[in-house]
Amino acid sequence: MANECLFCRILAGKIPATFVYEDDLCVAFPDINPQARAHVLIVPKEHLVSLAYAAPKHTALLGHLMATAAEVARRQHLERGYRVVVNTGTEGGQTVEHLHLHLLGGRYMDWPPG
Ligand code: 5GP
Ligand code: ZN
Repeated sequence: MANECLFCRILAGKIPATFVYEDDLCVAFPDINPQARAHVLIVPKEHLVSLAYAAPKHTALLGHLMATAAEVARRQHLERGYRVVVNTGTEGGQTVEHLHLHLLGGRYMDWPPG
């Protein structure tokens, strides 16, 4: 855990969040500033700065996060579709330096993204 990391603080219960999913490896909770009717963050319990820091030892974890996004989407009844986004680094639009997946749904998603 990184003390100064916002998502580590949420994981430690120091900042409130409503977990809509939790297992040994990750949690999911609604984004505080939703960009769609459904906007859930899937966050690994391990502090990993971003996808750019992923190493071969993280392969199973990354797969688990994707599978969890699909499970949360089912629980949120996003049968019409959804988008999973991993903002990475400054130009990727990442603002919290703890790897996370955005699950967005409940509206039509434009392409290309902004
Ligand atoms: P990023 O910009 O790094 O891809 O995504 C970070 C996300 O975390 C943003 O969408 C932002 O709204 C969300 N966020 C920032 N602070 C909090 C917080 O305290 N609680 C929750 N639930 N989400 C947060
Ligand atoms: Zn962290």
